[in-house]
Amino acid sequence: MKVVVIGAGSIGSHVAFRLLERGAEVELLDAAEPGQGTSASSIAWLSSYPQMSWEEEPGKAKLRGEVHRLFEELEQEVPGDYVHWSGTLMWGYRHEREELRRAAEIVRSKGIEVLELTAEEARRQVPGLQLLDDEVVFNETGSGWVDGPEIVRSLVTEIERRGGAVRRGAHVVGFDRTSERIVAARLRDGSRVEADAFVNAAGSWASHIAAMADLAIPLDLIPGRIVYTAPIGSVRQVINGPEWCARPDPSGGLAVHWRGGPQDASHGANARSAQELIDEIATAIPALAGTAPVRSSIGIRPVPPGGPIVGAVPWLRNLYFTVSHGGIGWGPMWGWMAARELLGADDVPELAAMRPERFYLEAIAIGRYADDAEQVVR
Ligand SMILES: Cc1cc2nc3c(=O)[nH]c(=O)nc-3n(C[C@H](O)[C@H](O)[C@H](O)COP(=O)(O)OP(=O)(O)OC[C@H]3O[C@@H](n4cnc5c(N)ncnc54)[C@H](O)[C@@H]3O)c2cc1C
Repeated sequence: MKVVVIGAGSIGSHVAFRLLERGAEVELLDAAEPGQGTSASSIAWLSSYPQMSWEEEPGKAKLRGEVHRLFEELEQEVPGDYVHWSGTLMWGYRHEREELRRAAEIVRSKGIEVLELTAEEARRQVPGLQLLDDEVVFNETGSGWVDGPEIVRSLVTEIERRGGAVRRGAHVVGFDRTSERIVAARLRDGSRVEADAFVNAAGSWASHIAAMADLAIPLDLIPGRIVYTAPIGSVRQVINGPEWCARPDPSGGLAVHWRGGPQDASHGANARSAQELIDEIATAIPALAGTAPVRSSIGIRPVPPGGPIVGAVPWLRNLYFTVSHGGIGWGPMWGWMAARELLGADDVPELAAMRPERFYLEAIAIGRYADDAEQVVR
């Protein structure tokens, strides 16, 4: 069976690797270079706390328990320095203590080690860390972060080593199809790529790929900025604070994302300049005081309304979707799911709520007139 995977970001690279490893002939296409989309501008945090305390759709909750194990297994299969099991310090304000404790109890009951630290213990882990004595810190010891560009590089190298095809600058602009099947992807250069099945792993561009197959699949696009600091040696773990998240970066500095205060339920304040953000974080990590940002980048999060999109619509079975936020952590899982369903022809029950046809079963809130969807609802 030949499968064309469209998009060589984190998700598409995992999908292509797993399909190849499970016996498919694979061609991985990217409009640009692999790993240069959202996967290059991500905090790429790999954690179970507090995520495993959330009340989630049962299928997703069940799969979540396997995410870390899949990374551990991948490290045995694909060479590369892409996962860093650094641990995470979850740092909260005093008023968050009870909520964070409750979440810690729930994830501990699922086998995850989460330690509550005193301020003094936290300062021992991150020398110079400026936290107040009544602030709270929890340490998820088995968590970490992924180097997004490096994991894509490693997967692509392994795919090519095992005989899979990876094509750069292969921009998909349309499909040739019958009423029930996609027959070929058409590329901008005028060529065609035929296959038995196609995977839409185009991240923030996935709605465009869907539209080329006459499917209307909505996606929220939420920009987030990462600021990269000068090299400092004092932070070796992920620090997830109430307003920002920082992780070590391969450059030797930190990659930092300003999230906004706890009152801001959305994903992205993004409002501060890179220098203001570093000045603010320097009040907590003094080693950053007086330093300038090295660079910053914007990633566009692909956030499907209602959760990940995994699977195909029943009337076009050979266009398979693997589109999700959290696509660094979930990448290996979507690779396994695509391989299982496309090659084994067995429907994975945990994916039932993630099927793309759900968008055809509920009204799309787009409005009757051209711009009334933009009206503020009071
Ligand atoms: C600030 C920020 C913080 C984040 N934090 C986390 C986190 O802590 N943990 C986590 O797991 N996730 C996190 N995410 C989300 C995560 O980064 C994304 O979910 C993930 O990178 C998406 O991967 P992807 O492979 O779907 O998309 P991408 O990496 O964007 O890859 C899509 C690829 O498709 C290609 N493409 C597009 N159109 C076409 C076409 N027509 N033809 C051919 N190729 C095409 C593009 O060139 C691109 O390479 C964060 C994101 C941001 C922005």
